[in-house]
Formats: sequence, structure tokens, C-alpha cells
Amino acid sequence: MKRLFFTLITCCILITVNGQRAKLPVIGISATDNSEGFSQVRATYINSVLRAGGVPVVLPITDNPEVIKTMIASIDALILTGGEDIEPIRYSEEPLPKLETIHPERDEFDILLIKYATERQIPIFGICRGHQLLNVAFGGTLYQDLATQVKSEKLLKHRQQAPIWHGTHQVALEENSVLSKVLGKTVIMANSYHHQAVKDVAPDFVITGRTSDGVVEAMEMKGNPKVFSVQFHPENATSHGLDDFLSIFVYLVELAIENQ
Ligand code: MN
Repeated sequence: MKRLFFTLITCCILITVNGQRAKLPVIGISATDNSEGFSQVRATYINSVLRAGGVPVVLPITDNPEVIKTMIASIDALILTGGEDIEPIRYSEEPLPKLETIHPERDEFDILLIKYATERQIPIFGICRGHQLLNVAFGGTLYQDLATQVKSEKLLKHRQQAPIWHGTHQVALEENSVLSKVLGKTVIMANSYHHQAVKDVAPDFVITGRTSDGVVEAMEMKGNPKVFSVQFHPENATSHGLDDFLSIFVYLVELAIENQ
């Protein structure tokens, strides 16, 4: 009897140890959908997670909170992806003429993803729309259209006409920010594919990267470096096989492992 008991205990321990070793961190990637009825995520996000050693899982839009809660419960970190403009009523503004395509159901889905991910305290990495959405979800506002709202000769070209992985403008990073630590530098060349940008930063966040025209290109949550975001697209370079921003995805995967 004693021997059986110890055998069972040993088996349990082995299974647990093996289980922990075997389980790779799961990174949820928020999807959009299109007019042909496809749920979709750009493969650049998927490839970047794979290169960093994570397991990418696509999270399709749903309006069922219980389903969204279960999605969050089954992942170890969340990536909020790029895409449509955010409906300005989310930050108490009327739509301006240069507002582009919005996707209200996706806004609602993404905001619930953020809500439940925050409750579970899992890492969140916002990219482009994801960066803007984090800001809005926590009470910040956006420029609906940089070119018409920021009247300055200093305004840079934020919709580049260059290969998607190629950095076209500089971003100055705050020393001691997550990004400068992870990338090991305080000035980077970043790609740029946006006409909107963060205006008033949410109270819980701090700006960690700006372009020379003052546009907010990176931020992180105050006192919580597990929640951070960028306006540019590091996944384009990472997916293309470049290593410039791979360490950001490795950092996210490491956080996800800690979170398991
Ligand atoms: Mn930019």
C-alpha cells in the first residue's frame, strides 16, 4: 500500500514537472473580420510570436462576454493588433470628416479583452490600433486624423510609402522604459502606418517614445511594465526575418512564461 502511494505521488510530481516543461506560452492575438466573412490576423503577428518561441492563438471577434473571459483564461499574454479606426464616441468625440473605417463590434470585443486581461493581470502588448485602444480603454483620447488636426510644419510622414519592415522615422525612447531596456537603445528607426495617434494619454500610462513632431509612439502602464504598447509595427520586421525588434516579442514570451 505504502509503495503504491509513493508511486502515485512520484507519478504526479513527474507529470507536473513534465507538464510545466512541455507547456509553451500561449499568446492570444486579437483578430478582425472582413466583408467576405473571414476572421483574420496578419501572418506577421503569428510569425513574430513563433520566432520568439510562443504559441500564437487567434482570438476571433465575439460579443459573448463569457466566451471572451474563457479566451483570456486560456492564454498567457495578449497582443492587440492593428486595424480600423476606433469609434470616437469611445472617447466622447463626434466623428470628424477624416475619420476612416470603424468597426464598432471589434471595439467592444477588444475593450472586453483588455478588461478581462487586466483582471487576470496577464501581459498585454498593444500594436498600432492596439496601442490607441489601450489608451482609450483606460480613459485617454486620440487624434482622429493627424494631418488635419496637428497643424505643424514639423509633422512627419506617418503613412510611409516604403517596404513594410523598413523604419522611416526615428523614435526617441525614454531611458529606463521597457522598450529602451528590451531594445538596448534610446533611438530607433520605426516604420509608420497610421493617420491617428494618442492625444491625451490615459492617467494610468506614461509616454515612453515620441517622434520629433511629438507623436506618441510608445507607452507603458505606470508601475506595470507587463502592459505596454507601440504605434509602429515591430512585427513587420520580425516576420521578415530581421532581428531589430525580435527582443520585444521575446520579452512578451518571457513575461507569458512567468505568468503561467
Ligand atoms: Mn509614426
